[in-house]
Amino acid sequence: MSAVQLTRQIPQGATIGPMADNSTERGALRIAVIGGGIAGLAAAAGLANAGAAVEVFERSSRDSVPGAGISLFPNSRAAMRTLGLSDGYERLSHGPGAGVRTVMRRPNGKVVLPFPAWARPKVRMFHRSALREFLLESCRGVPIHWDTAVTVDDDGGPHRRAMLTAADGQQSSWDLVVAADGLRSATRRFLSLDPGLRYAGYTAWRGVTRGRADTGGMAGEDWGSRQRFGTVPLADGRVYWFAVATKAEGRTAAAEGLASEKEAAALEFADWYPGVGALIAGTDEADVLRHDLYDLARPLSVFHRGRVALAGDAAHAMTPDLGQGAGAGLEDAAALTALVRTALAGGAAEPGADVVGLLERYSRLRAPKAARLLRASRLMGRVAQRERKAWRPGA
Ligand SMILES: Cc1cc2nc3c(=O)[nH]c(=O)nc-3n(C[C@H](O)[C@H](O)[C@H](O)COP(=O)(O)OP(=O)(O)OC[C@H]3O[C@@H](n4cnc5c(N)ncnc54)[C@H](O)[C@@H]3O)c2cc1C
Repeated sequence: MSAVQLTRQIPQGATIGPMADNSTERGALRIAVIGGGIAGLAAAAGLANAGAAVEVFERSSRDSVPGAGISLFPNSRAAMRTLGLSDGYERLSHGPGAGVRTVMRRPNGKVVLPFPAWARPKVRMFHRSALREFLLESCRGVPIHWDTAVTVDDDGGPHRRAMLTAADGQQSSWDLVVAADGLRSATRRFLSLDPGLRYAGYTAWRGVTRGRADTGGMAGEDWGSRQRFGTVPLADGRVYWFAVATKAEGRTAAAEGLASEKEAAALEFADWYPGVGALIAGTDEADVLRHDLYDLARPLSVFHRGRVALAGDAAHAMTPDLGQGAGAGLEDAAALTALVRTALAGGAAEPGADVVGLLERYSRLRAPKAARLLRASRLMGRVAQRERKAWRPGA
């Protein structure tokens, strides 16, 4: 089917504005990405590298900078290779530096589990803003429409392109839509794939210290009773920390009469070894984030409908207990990139013709693996957040 034929199939009454002027690049596979988070930007960079004509729609502004840190495991490195981003990724500074020991401590600071170097996966730790800048840099040449929320109107089909509408009413049609619109994905609901969210039963504070911080040469995740604290040294000497506690859903510092989430975190972990309080105290109030943790109530068995694919948290929101949410999003981006690259290399006269088949393969590749991760993360969270009277601070 030609691009002209495809354009003719747009439903009657649809207004095709300037944003929709995407039917002019005859022969290119035109892909819209909803969401400029890690999964969306990675997909955009990879798909553009594969030869598709990609545009990103992000409802937030360019200067909304993500806070806190993130750990990426070797599967992310492999995904970066498929995305064509390997070189830059290898050069991106990351922590922890040489000589840092990975350990698990008790709330009193006693090391209970020193991980030998061979047992440590090659984990890389980044400030989220550094990772985002790298992904944005990797999207050079890809139009990114900031401050532009879009919704899917029509998921398309074998002979019909998918349709998006922006908040200002502009419509556009696409060979393929990658919806990386996060935990509360509206696209997942539109596609009737939403199983709802499950509150995990615990909340997490995260922060990055304002300057260099001394962790005594240690990194890791420390477990107490219904509480955990993580210490993650970054490349520039600052430290990303996270603090997890079992809490009722929706509790906030303000609701508890506290001045800030920094104060709430400090109070929650006041009885822990002194390094914990020092990291919290060394973080600016505005840099302490708090999120109740959720995952999908049930893993999805497919990640697409018609010409619309879900990716990242939209497809498989999981608890962060294995540190694999973003990594799984990078794997989605890599899978889509590999499939599109193969389709384009096949030299089809109309590359958009078999998008539905391509997404069926995508679902088969990604959904079972992501489901296993989601379940494993949930299990890990249950174990980690258990009540252990003997592990209470001071016990
Ligand atoms: C406490 C915590 C710690 C974590 N630690 C790790 C870790 O160490 N390692 C790891 O791999 N993962 C970790 N994760 C998970 C990881 O943060 C997420 O899996 C990842 O950031 C999800 O990326 P995403 O791009 O799918 O979604 P998001 O980052 O949520 O991005 C979605 C984007 O879509 C945009 N959007 C939404 N709707 C629309 C719309 N209609 N139109 C346009 N734009 C829209 C949003 O503005 C947003 O920018 C952690 C999560 C938490 C909560």
